[in-house]
Amino acid sequence: MKNLQTYTNEFWPNHIIPPHILESIARNGTEVQRTLAQRTLAHDEQVRARRTEEAKGLKGKAGSRRVQGAGTAHKNRVIYTANNSSSLPGTLVRSEGQAATGDVAVDEAYDGLGATFDLYWDIHGRNSIDDAGMDLIGTVHYGSGYDNAFFDGTQMVFGDGDGVYFNRFTIAIDVMGHELTHGVTAATAGLEYHDQPGALNESISDVFGSQVKQRFLGQTAAAADWLIGAGLWTAAVNGVALRSMKAPGTAYDDPVVGKDPQPDHMSRYVTTTSDNGGVHTNSGIPNKAFYLAAVAIGGNSWDAAGNIWYQTLLDSRLSSTAQFQDFANLTAVNANTLYGASVQSAVVQAWHDVGIDVNEGWLTNKAIVGLWTIDQDRNAWVYVDADGWKKIAYDNDNIFYDMLGQLSSAKASGKTVSMYISNNVITQLYVNS
Ligand SMILES: [Zn+2]
Repeated sequence: MKNLQTYTNEFWPNHIIPPHILESIARNGTEVQRTLAQRTLAHDEQVRARRTEEAKGLKGKAGSRRVQGAGTAHKNRVIYTANNSSSLPGTLVRSEGQAATGDVAVDEAYDGLGATFDLYWDIHGRNSIDDAGMDLIGTVHYGSGYDNAFFDGTQMVFGDGDGVYFNRFTIAIDVMGHELTHGVTAATAGLEYHDQPGALNESISDVFGSQVKQRFLGQTAAAADWLIGAGLWTAAVNGVALRSMKAPGTAYDDPVVGKDPQPDHMSRYVTTTSDNGGVHTNSGIPNKAFYLAAVAIGGNSWDAAGNIWYQTLLDSRLSSTAQFQDFANLTAVNANTLYGASVQSAVVQAWHDVGIDVNEGWLTNKAIVGLWTIDQDRNAWVYVDADGWKKIAYDNDNIFYDMLGQLSSAKASGKTVSMYISNNVITQLYVNS
């Protein structure tokens, strides 16, 4: 069981490279690379300690779960260079509307922050990270051989990488979508950064980071590669990306940087106390659910599937300590509200395929495949298409026999039913005409 005391639950800054990768390099890399990885780890710890008290920024704005952004779009990118120092924000090199500078890190940061703003504004009417027009600030060329990128709650910071294992950190546009989405989550659901809520927090950043990339490239859900951080590894590393939403656990397998530890199913959930309870590891499970849902629904991931996930993030019923089950349940509810039964079925199936059966809310247009009763115990179980066994509530004889009769006739006639289930117990039911 989780031990909340184990984790500090400190959130800012949030780094794209999880500690297990840097620790692996610090153990297995060349002498120079070990030193750089150790320095990056030590630096990240220092920044964390320094920023914790002062960078509560977005967290204080939690509670503004507005669906529509206020006023007109305020898209204001401000890019600085640290000139390989660690002073922030550094020297201003490109402001909103200015032409490309020719410095690839500057221009990639500008484009990536812009693509992230555009996804949130064009699709969801969200006016920047805080929905109040927050400036998008980025500092490139941070540190020397610095193997990470992070968002500290007020700005993004990109290292150049060590050049041996890591390329520059602006190379992957989804890294920016990922990091800035941590700001969106902090300003909305405020998911705590440990165990399952933490893994959901990480997954939501991958979900929207991937949408930023797919939309920037004009790719449908079926055409996209669903990789997170493709291009970050140099050719020296046996890997394609930091994570794969389509096939968690397969992004890299290398003697120096280690092996992708992500599970793709609840049966392989990793119980650990490192990385705040495996927040970068178990995020593979909800990541795959989003991938499966987006592909099953079809079209672009940022349309129906992305909107279901976004509305769930804004849903006041989503608590800051939500478990995978809670999030899955709410995506099913929102899918039905927004797009109806067939899209909801795709979402329910996606979660089922990663080992999570939606167990609270309406299941609509479901076929009854099997029916099993123990009359004397006032007890009945039904097998609902793709959703497993559900129990009928039996506190009232009249309701019990009425439900049983309806289910029997629905099964016999091949009609579908809509049912409200709570913790796998059917509490309301009607047969569809
Ligand atoms: Zn993250």
